[in-house]
Amino acid sequence: MPQLADHQTEFAARVAELEAERELTLRLAQTDSLTGLVNRGAFTSGLCERLEAARDSGAQVALFIIDLDRFKNLNDTLGHHAGDQLLAELGERLRAEARPGELVARLGGDEFALITNDTDISGRASRLISMLTLPQTIYGRTVVPGGSIGVALYPRDAQDAGDLQRFADMALYRAKALGGRRCSVFDADLRNESLRRRNLEAELRRAIPAGEIEPWFQPIIDSMTGRMVGVEVLARWRHPDQGLLSPAAFVPMAEELGLIKAIDEAIFEAACARAAPWVADDLIEVVSCNVSPRDLLDPGFSRKLIQRLGQTALPATALTVEITETFLLQDMALARRHIERLAAKGVNVALDDFGTGYSNLRSLMHLPIQTVKLDRSLIDDVGRDARVSKLVASMLHAARSLGVRIIAEGVEHEAQALFLRSAGCDRMQGYFFARPMPADEMEAMLREANGVTPKRAAVG
Ligand code: C2E
Ligand code: CA
Ligand code: CA
Repeated sequence: MPQLADHQTEFAARVAELEAERELTLRLAQTDSLTGLVNRGAFTSGLCERLEAARDSGAQVALFIIDLDRFKNLNDTLGHHAGDQLLAELGERLRAEARPGELVARLGGDEFALITNDTDISGRASRLISMLTLPQTIYGRTVVPGGSIGVALYPRDAQDAGDLQRFADMALYRAKALGGRRCSVFDADLRNESLRRRNLEAELRRAIPAGEIEPWFQPIIDSMTGRMVGVEVLARWRHPDQGLLSPAAFVPMAEELGLIKAIDEAIFEAACARAAPWVADDLIEVVSCNVSPRDLLDPGFSRKLIQRLGQTALPATALTVEITETFLLQDMALARRHIERLAAKGVNVALDDFGTGYSNLRSLMHLPIQTVKLDRSLIDDVGRDARVSKLVASMLHAARSLGVRIIAEGVEHEAQALFLRSAGCDRMQGYFFARPMPADEMEAMLREANGVTPKRAAVG
């Protein structure tokens, strides 16, 4: 008969087994599978613990956020496997670089972090930078990865983990903006920038329901007749203290904060209310609205837009929605669903900023996109630089053969307009014709130029 002691040993063994299993599961849940480093979740709790300890001991904690420069390029040219191998190798180097008590993590993608009590920030940064610039051999090819670093310090810069990460991120962003392959430490300039953004955020949340974001309009011209055939709707913020703000001052932040949807909806409604009568009076044919890639990632976007359009007086065939290639590339299947749903209702979809990204004319063949807007950066040198002129002419030619309409943006000089017209560009837009303007001015200009005599009066 088994003794009680046997049961106890068996029981103890089983408990140990379960504990080991639990530990393994826990470790796996905290580990990044590619590099074997701590993952983002475990990094965050590790950072909180270290700050807690530093609070008691009075030590300094430095957070280094490390990000590869142009990793996406490398991934695209060498392939994902090579990209993964590069990341794994870097993970290995970072692990070797870490000293006892330090925490190295992979935060995701090509972003890594180091948490340390080391007070020699610049010494550490230059070691890391040179480590990142060591050449690596991947599938027989030598690559020099190169990376940027952002640093923030506890308690000097921030008191909690959230702020410390945000500030290290801001420093990293600056390091990249300065050209990469360098380290940037959070400082007074970045603190001011952070305060400014906090204020702006609070104000933006208030401004949307207060109706301070309003639609401005820029005419779109028919190249052959010179007539204004449409308008593009462009957002402006009529800020109570700072005056009129252009989208560059608030659209990127609104996208980051998830407020862009509310802005786009408000602009859409206000623009339709103003411009629907222009269409009804035959002053223009098209009203073109910008839509953020963020909006488009919502699977219900096209359905809701069609529904909202139904509540306005604007016919679906008079609406163009401008989307960017960034979105097409993010989720091709979703893009197709939106574009097809809109096209089925007669809404035209235009590809904006063409010529800045991958500019894949082939992607157009597979989607019902009928309009492409050539980006200003291409138009700038048209008629001046023979190679750019040639490139644009061949793009126009290719688009025509696909049955796609081309709108050239940012036409500032007569020479550009003449060249584009002779090269067969259908429509143009730019300061040469008119700058964006408030609704009242746009309406006056349209009635003056296009409004023969008011049609309704003329009939009687
Ligand atoms: P975009 O869609 O490429 O708009 C064209 C931009 O070029 C506008 O800048 C316009 O004012 C400017 N522009 C037009 N002609 C010329 C020219 O001849 N020369 C020069 N230098 N610039 C010209 P804006 O109004 O500052 O808008 C900037 C960007 O902000 C827009 O680029 C668009 O991406 C975004 N945006 C504007 N309104 C909205 C909106 O309601 N929703 C969303 N999501 N984004 C918007
Ligand atoms: Ca646009
Ligand atoms: Ca554009």
